[in-house]
Amino acid sequence: MSYLVLARKYRPQKFQDVVGQQAVVRILRNALRRKRVAHAMLFSGVRGVGKTTLARIMAKALNCHHQDEDVPCDHCSSCAEIKAGNAIDLHEIDGASNRGINEIRELQENLRFLPTNERYKIVVIDEVHMLTVEAFNALLKTLEEPPPHVFFMFATTELHKVPVTILSRCQRYELRRVALNDLLDFFARIAVSEGVKITDGAMEIIAREADGSVRDGLSLLEQIFSFGGESICEDDLTQVLGLVDGRVFNRLAASLLAGDTGQALTLLAECYGHGMNMKRFSFGLLQYLRGLMICKTCRNPTELLDVSDDEITVLQALAGKYSIETITNIFNIVFGGVDEVGRSSYPRMALEMLFVKAGQAGGVVPLAGLLGRLDSMLAAEPRPAVAEITQTENNGVPQIKAESEAVPPVAEAVKIDSAPLEPVQEPVVAAGEDIDSGGVANPAAQGSEPAVPSPEREAAPPPPEQLEPVREISPPSIPVERNWPEFIGHVKERKRWMASALQLAEKVDERAGELVIKFDDPAECLILQDVDNLKLLTEFAQDFFQKELMVKVTAVGSNGEDDELDKPMEERRALTRDPVVEMVVDTLGGEVSGVRTGPRSR
Ligand SMILES: [Zn+2]
Repeated sequence: MSYLVLARKYRPQKFQDVVGQQAVVRILRNALRRKRVAHAMLFSGVRGVGKTTLARIMAKALNCHHQDEDVPCDHCSSCAEIKAGNAIDLHEIDGASNRGINEIRELQENLRFLPTNERYKIVVIDEVHMLTVEAFNALLKTLEEPPPHVFFMFATTELHKVPVTILSRCQRYELRRVALNDLLDFFARIAVSEGVKITDGAMEIIAREADGSVRDGLSLLEQIFSFGGESICEDDLTQVLGLVDGRVFNRLAASLLAGDTGQALTLLAECYGHGMNMKRFSFGLLQYLRGLMICKTCRNPTELLDVSDDEITVLQALAGKYSIETITNIFNIVFGGVDEVGRSSYPRMALEMLFVKAGQAGGVVPLAGLLGRLDSMLAAEPRPAVAEITQTENNGVPQIKAESEAVPPVAEAVKIDSAPLEPVQEPVVAAGEDIDSGGVANPAAQGSEPAVPSPEREAAPPPPEQLEPVREISPPSIPVERNWPEFIGHVKERKRWMASALQLAEKVDERAGELVIKFDDPAECLILQDVDNLKLLTEFAQDFFQKELMVKVTAVGSNGEDDELDKPMEERRALTRDPVVEMVVDTLGGEVSGVRTGPRSR
């Protein structure tokens, strides 16, 4: 028997063999069962997802002699003829090479006659979008009133090029890219029946490279089968196909995130040596970084990422080591350069340059982290001051680089809740901390607004232009009191009743990792004090304010902590002149926008 390429040998012959596309298959089978098959069908989707395969299975099903069974039976004479490609009543036309009006007229002439052997004449036009306008117009007349013995099935990779007049006369089926797991199952079955052993890792590389296309995956399998003999591993793929294993991207991403440019360049050189296409390589890296971002930000990354569970674990482990700022930073740099790599005559050098840039940007430390350290260093013993420091818009520091690079100016509000003790002469981040002090002390020092004590500003709502960027850049944390109404809005979208209950709150106060919500009437907050509700509310607060907060719900009068906002102005004013406060203001280039004195002062 002559050699048959895998794509033909394993072309699905029955609905149950179709890889992926369960939804479309179900609809088609239902239509057959109810005898309500449209006379014109259009299958669209990227190449190799099963458009013509499904059209052919439908053709078989319509003419199958065993209509009472699950059709197509795949063994009656009609099914057998279609399978062998010599069915007289099935007209398969390649729209790319038979695109003119003459071909369509000829076809129409033929369709006037009743089918020769079977019940229906079936016309399959592949790449239908390639037909000329005249051909489409000629076709339109037939589609408007299709003869009862004729079914049309069109397939296209470019749905947008099919005229609307045609679209509106067809039942449309959009085929999706085949999911990674479906591809893996299918390819594994083929490997078994071909008697080839292939490692899981190698299989995954092929399935990922296929990118949802069964045919692409099969042609890769074909190549590797003809090379590799009876057992195939990841290295074979790298050598034969120039495909890179996902672990390379993991190592590369890890070195870029860690700012280890040397390691990144070495990995690049290895892949280049293997003959990997640099454009495809940079795209692979970008996809990997996207995976990291999704794992960092989504609770259910599997919904967005078509990768195996093992890989999700690996991605989550790496993403867990870095802040979202660091990851997005590297992603943005690679994203910004990928096109250039594709266009460049020297793609390797373009990629190298990109890695050097990424290396310089690596190791970003979020401001919240730094402030947290500052906080814990200073908070040796309780102090009355609770100062809010708002950085000025021109030199705020959302994140500070370990290597003391310049940082883009962004407005940011931070609340330092705790308390300095004695004036510290050293730069804020002192010995023992693994952050370079230069990075902290420097960027904010110049040009900041003078730290004017302004207790009266406390009551005034902050100007919107200072607040807005805080949410948009999604800095590490958001001050609670000023954003309270927004927070209630956030809760309202999730739990309406909870938002209504929160609106009754008399005061909110944040200190020492606690968010205290106070009510005048104990009855108003009973429901919020319920353990489960409190837990949920805590989750909302942590989500929204981006910090570890314990929510406490109390009624005023149940403890005596309700009057800390009423301290004399003089005392607050004195606090802003506290040397430690001044030092902090100076170091961070901020200003004191408000002062609260807390119960710990008493
Ligand atoms: Zn049959």
